[in-house]
Amino acid sequence: MSVERIFDNTEVAFALKSDSELERAYFLFKMISIEPLVRIGTAATNFAIKAHLPVKGLIRATVFDHFCGGVNEEDCLPVINKMYEKGVSSVLDFSVEGKESEKEFDNACNVVLKIMEFSKELKAIPIAVFKPTGFGRFYLYEKLGKGEAFTDKEQEEWNKVVARFDAVCKKAKDYNIAVLIDAEESWMQDAADDLVTEMMKKYNTEKPVVYNTLQMYRHDRMEFLKKEYAKAKAEGYFLGYKIVRGAYMEKENERAEENGYPTPICASKAATDDNFNDCLNYILDHIEDISLFAGTHNEESSYLLMNLMKQKGLENNDSRVWFGQLYGMSDHISFNLSSLGYNVAKYIPFGPVRDVMPYLIRRAEENTSVAGQTGRELTLLTKEKKRRKKL
Ligand SMILES: Cc1cc2nc3c(=O)[nH]c(=O)nc-3n(C[C@H](O)[C@H](O)[C@H](O)COP(=O)(O)OP(=O)(O)OC[C@H]3O[C@@H](n4cnc5c(N)ncnc54)[C@H](O)[C@@H]3O)c2cc1C
Repeated sequence: MSVERIFDNTEVAFALKSDSELERAYFLFKMISIEPLVRIGTAATNFAIKAHLPVKGLIRATVFDHFCGGVNEEDCLPVINKMYEKGVSSVLDFSVEGKESEKEFDNACNVVLKIMEFSKELKAIPIAVFKPTGFGRFYLYEKLGKGEAFTDKEQEEWNKVVARFDAVCKKAKDYNIAVLIDAEESWMQDAADDLVTEMMKKYNTEKPVVYNTLQMYRHDRMEFLKKEYAKAKAEGYFLGYKIVRGAYMEKENERAEENGYPTPICASKAATDDNFNDCLNYILDHIEDISLFAGTHNEESSYLLMNLMKQKGLENNDSRVWFGQLYGMSDHISFNLSSLGYNVAKYIPFGPVRDVMPYLIRRAEENTSVAGQTGRELTLLTKEKKRRKKL
């Protein structure tokens, strides 16, 4: 018997939203559903920020407050506590991107370590996260991935990257917190994967603490997972994976075309969906050895995972399976799942407005009418507005 289809329940989905917050969300999704507006808005905002025009207030009151928890970790606490009342945990995501200096890498690492101190005290934050390029230069990952030798200076720099990974993963084990390591562009990912595997080998000896990310829009990821599994079995450590579809599709396709190599991306959306769902099946079949964090807003994949858990006889709150969504998106999935006792966490991005712009632009682009997600958000928000009017 399959699980009940629960995601249409808007009363549960939006219980934390006041009427005015509901209106703001509706207005925002309506705006970003208009693709040309997002294109022009993105260009204008980038220009305004670079030109130091006073647009921060406007950004904060609209996209920023909808998709981000605040400018620093303390700022996010009210959101964290509110969501936890409904059983939804938080993953605090320091979303500053595109930095390239040692000082900024040290700062990003210190922010994550500080969040883990928070997590030690707060049950609402059981998971930490970071991006490989938040801890070291993109160029270094790329060079290492190509098998090219580092100069002495680069080697010294890379040693610091490894030390940052190690400091966070060690603390995760000491404090019994999971740490998710995001995946990025395929041409830097090989070096990141090797490093994360090293960390798993070192710290996942008793249970999965360190989680790598598999982007299932890449057609080579099932094969990669099977190889990693064989290695982990042979050497006696556990695996943890966040699985996602992948956020850099256009960039990947464009680069492949420009450089004349076959794209690493699946041939169609349906092929990505099949790949993602095959991966869910594979991990659930090996749940004794591999823990899962399913980062998705896709309802069918979420129902599939619920069904697989049921078929395998897992409790809804089995500690080895987590569902994850981004703050500001798909509350209908997060809160309906948590109401049935599933483990759910939302990524809460935070950081100075100017620095989280690349993240916000990705979210706006992902939510245009072209990408398709907005229609569903708008339908559900409209349904909830109507339901409240009838009360
Ligand atoms: C908690 C969480 C953590 C995340 N962490 C990461 C991360 O570390 N790295 C990362 O890259 N992304 C990450 N993402 C973003 C994620 O990869 C997706 O971009 C996003 O979630 C949309 O996919 P979906 O499964 O929610 O839903 P859907 O809307 O069903 O899928 C959209 C996705 O399908 C794929 N797709 C669309 N069209 C095609 C096509 N024509 N051919 C092939 N594939 C296609 C693309 O990946 C697209 O993003 C994360 C998302 C969440 C919720």
